Amino acid sequence: MIGLPRTPSSKINRANPSTPGGSRVTEENILVTVRMRPLNSREHAKYDLIAWDCPDDHTLVFKNPNPERAATKYSFDKVYEPTCATHEVYEGGSRDVALSALAGTNATIFAYGQTSSGKTFTMRGVTNSVVKDIYEHIRKTQERSFVLKVSALEIYNETVVDLLNRDTGPLRLLDDPEKGTIVENLVEKVVESRQHLQRLIGICEGQRQVGETTLNDKSSRSHQIIRLTIQSSLREIAGRVQSFMATLNLVDLAGSERVSQTNADGLRLKEGNHINQSLLTLTTVIRKLSSGKKDHIPYRNSKLTRILQNSLGGNSRTAIICTISPALSHVAQTKKTLSFATSAKEVTNCAKVNMVVSEKLLLKHLQQKVAKLESELRSPESSSSTCLKSLLVEREKKIQQMETEMKELKRQRDIAQSQLEQERKEKEQKVARCLSYTAQEESTPSKSVPRSRRTSRVKRKDNVRQSLTSADRTALAQEIRLFEKNQKKLGEEANQALDLIHKEVTSHKLGDQQSAEKFAKMLSEIRDMQKSNLIPEETVVGDESNLKEEINRLNSEEIAALEKKLETVQKFIDMLASSYQTDEETPEFRTQMKKKRVLPFGFSNSPNLQHMIRAPCSPLSSSGTENKAPESNVVSARDSRTPSKEGTPVSSSRQANSVDVKRMKRMFTNAAEENIRNIKDYVTGLKERVAKLQYQKQLLLCQVIELEGNETAESDESQMEWSLCFEEQRKQIIMLWHLCHISIIHRTQFYMLFKGDPADQIYMEVELRRLTWLEQHLAELGNASPALLGDEPASYVASSIRALKQEREYLAKRVNTKLGAEEREMLYLKWDVAPVGKQRRQQLINKLWTDPHNTEHVKESAEIVAKLVGFCDSGENIRKEMFELNFASPADKKTWMMGWNFISNFLHL
Ligand code: ADP
Ligand code: MG
Repeated sequence: MIGLPRTPSSKINRANPSTPGGSRVTEENILVTVRMRPLNSREHAKYDLIAWDCPDDHTLVFKNPNPERAATKYSFDKVYEPTCATHEVYEGGSRDVALSALAGTNATIFAYGQTSSGKTFTMRGVTNSVVKDIYEHIRKTQERSFVLKVSALEIYNETVVDLLNRDTGPLRLLDDPEKGTIVENLVEKVVESRQHLQRLIGICEGQRQVGETTLNDKSSRSHQIIRLTIQSSLREIAGRVQSFMATLNLVDLAGSERVSQTNADGLRLKEGNHINQSLLTLTTVIRKLSSGKKDHIPYRNSKLTRILQNSLGGNSRTAIICTISPALSHVAQTKKTLSFATSAKEVTNCAKVNMVVSEKLLLKHLQQKVAKLESELRSPESSSSTCLKSLLVEREKKIQQMETEMKELKRQRDIAQSQLEQERKEKEQKVARCLSYTAQEESTPSKSVPRSRRTSRVKRKDNVRQSLTSADRTALAQEIRLFEKNQKKLGEEANQALDLIHKEVTSHKLGDQQSAEKFAKMLSEIRDMQKSNLIPEETVVGDESNLKEEINRLNSEEIAALEKKLETVQKFIDMLASSYQTDEETPEFRTQMKKKRVLPFGFSNSPNLQHMIRAPCSPLSSSGTENKAPESNVVSARDSRTPSKEGTPVSSSRQANSVDVKRMKRMFTNAAEENIRNIKDYVTGLKERVAKLQYQKQLLLCQVIELEGNETAESDESQMEWSLCFEEQRKQIIMLWHLCHISIIHRTQFYMLFKGDPADQIYMEVELRRLTWLEQHLAELGNASPALLGDEPASYVASSIRALKQEREYLAKRVNTKLGAEEREMLYLKWDVAPVGKQRRQQLINKLWTDPHNTEHVKESAEIVAKLVGFCDSGENIRKEMFELNFASPADKKTWMMGWNFISNFLHL
C-alpha cells in the first residue's frame, strides 16, 4: 500500500533539458528529488540499519522491520541511492532548473534535510557544477554577452547578514513594488571570471556560522543563500529588448530536525528554535501552496520565506533536493523530510522569462528619444538651423579644399615660371658666349635686359660681325696697299743700284782682255735687267672688301724678281770689288792712272752717288739709319760736283800730282773700294728690306686667308645659332601659351607655320614679346592684393579658359568628320582614351596641348588640331603675314590680350 499520495505525472512540466531555460513561460511543479547518503561512521559504529530501499529512480520504500506492517512507499521526481555521486543528483533535474537562469528564468535550488543528512555536501557539489556549466554555456553562446553578479547572505536567528561583507551587520529587508523583497545594502559583486566566482563562494562558506551539535560536528545552524544574477544580451542589439535577467538562488538550509533531538544547552536550544521557526514557516508555506489554498501564504512570517517568496509558488523554477540518512535510527526525521518533500511536489510555480529589465531599457530608450525630440522642438535651433549649420560646415570644408588646390596651383605656376626663367638665363648665357665682344660694351646685367633687347642681340650680332669683317677687310686692304707701295719703292731703289753698277762698270776700263770681256758681259746683263725693270703700276683701288684681287696681286712674283735683281747687283759688286784688287797690282792700272789722271770710277759724274749714299735705309724702317760714306769721301764727292766754280778735282788732283803716285793710287783704290762697299751695304740693306717685304706678304696672305675662312665659318655658326635660338624661343612660347591659356588653334597654326626659317625670326620675336608681356601682366595682377585686382585677371583668365573649353568642344565635334575611323581608334589608343565611353572624342581633345615640356606631345597635338581645323603644313589657307607684328608697348591691354583670338576669329570658330 502506498501511504502517501503521489504527485500526478501530468503536473510535472519539465523544460527541455537540451535548451537551458526551456520555454519562456512555464507553469510547473517544484522539482523534488531525494538523495540518500551512505551510513556515516557514527551510524556504522552503532550498527545502525539501513531502513530504506530504492526499487527504482523515483521510488523510495521504507523497509519496515515489522513484516506485518505495510511498507511505506514514496515517489519523487528522482530518488538517488547512497551510491550516487553528486553530479548525478545535479544532472537529474537540478541542472536544468539552475540553468534556466541563463535564459531569463528565475531559479532556486534548495537543500532540505535534517542536520548531517548531507545538505551542505550536496549543495557544494551542485554549486560547483552550476558554476562550471554557466561558464561553459557563456563560452558556447558567443552571440550573447553575459553579466554575472553574486551576492550571499546568511539568515541566522532571523538576522540577515551579508556573507561578502559581514562587517555591515544585520541587514534590513525592504519591500520593492517591482522587485519584491530586497535586502538593503546587500553587496552584489560583479563576477569577473569563473575563478573569481569560485573564490567568492569559498569566502561565503568560510563565513558561515558553524556550531557544534551532537548530530554533526560541523552542522550549520544558519540558512545560506548564494544568489547569482545573470544578465544576458544579444551582442548586436545590446541594451535593447532582447536582454534577459534572472536570479539563481542556491539555498543551503539549516538542519530541519526538532530541537528536542539535540542535547544542546540553552544557546543551542535558542538556535534550534529559530531554525525551526524559519523551517516552520517554510513548511507552512509549502503546505499551503500545495493544498491549493492560496488565500494567504505566510511568506512574511520569516526572513527566509520573504526572501525566497518567488521561489515558492512564484516566478521561479524551483528544485528541492531532500537529503536523508538511510539509518533506521533517523527514520522519524527522514519521514518528516519526505513528508515535506511530498508537499513540495504539489507546489506549482509560474516561471517566465524575465525581460522586465530589458523592457525597462526599452522604455528608457524611448524616453530618451522623446526627451530629445522635445528638447529639439523647444530649442531655438530647429532642424532647419541644424541643416544650415551642416551646410556651413560643408561650405567651410569646400573653401579649405579650394584653398589647398589654389596653393598647389600657385606652386605649379611658380615652378613653371622658374623653369622659364632658367631657360631664359641659359639662353642668355649662350647668346652672351656667342657675342662675347659685345659683353664689354654692354655693362647692363643680362638679367635686367628686356627680352626684346636680348633676343635682338642675335640680329645685331650679325650686323656687328659684318661691320667687323668690313673693318678687317679695309684694314687688310690698306695694309696690302702700303706693302705694295714699299715694294714699288724698293724696286725703284734696286733700279738705282743697278744704274749705279752700270755706270761703275762702264767707267771701269781697266783690266786685261779677259776682265774687259767679263765687264762687257756684265754690262749687257745689266742693260737687259734695266730693260725688263718691273715698275709696278699704280694700284687700282677698287672694292676694299674684294680681297681676292689683293691676294692675286700679292701672289705675283714681283718680290722674287726684286730679290733676283738684288742678287745680281750684289754679284756685280763683288766682281767689281775683286777686279779692283787685281787691277791695283797691274802695270796697266798704274800707267792709266798716270795718263788719264782721272778720279777712279768717275764718281764725280755720278748724280746718284749722293742720293745713293744718302738714301734712307728703308722706307719701312723706322730706325732712320743711313748708309753714310766716310766723311772724307763725302767732302771729296761734294767738291767734285762743282769742279768749275769751286775748284775742280782736276786742279786738286793736279796739286796731288806732286804727291806720291803710289799714295794717290792707294787713295783712289781705297775710295773705289769704299764706294763698292757702300753700294754693297746699300744693296744688302735693300735685300733685307725685300726679305722683310716677303715676310709681310706672307703675313698678309695669312690674314686674308684667315679672314675669308672666318667669314665662311661664321656664316655657318650664325645659321646654327639661329636654329638654337629658334628652338629656345619656341620652347618658351609653348610654355607661355600654356601658362596664359592661349587658344590651341592659334598655337597649332603658329607651330605649323614657323619652323625655324630665318625669316621667322621677327614673328617669333613678336610672339615671345607679347606672351611675355601677358604672362608678366597676369603674374603681377595675380600677386597683387585681391582688393587691387578688380576683376581683370579673373575675367581674362576665366574667359580664356572658357574660350579654350569651347574651342576643345568645337574640335571634339569635328573628330568624326575630319578623322577616319581607323585613325580615330589609333589615336584613342595612343592617347590612352578608354576603349568604351561616350566622351571619347572630348577626352582625346582634352588631352591635346596639355604638356608644354614634352616636344613630341606638342608636335602630335599640333598635327591633330591642324587636321581637325583643316590646314596643313603648306599653309595654303593661312599665311605668316596674318600674325600681327607689333613691337610697340601695349597701349590697349585688351587688344593685346585678345590678339590670340585673331586667327580663331578669322576662321569663324
Ligand atoms: P548537513 O549539511 O546536512 O548537516 P553535511 O553535508 O555536513 O550535512 O554532511 C555530514 C557528513 O556526511 C559530512 O561529513 C559529509 O561528508 C558526509 N556526507 C553527506 N552526504 C554524503 C554522501 N552522499 N556521500 C558521502 N558522504 C556524505
Ligand atoms: Mg550543513
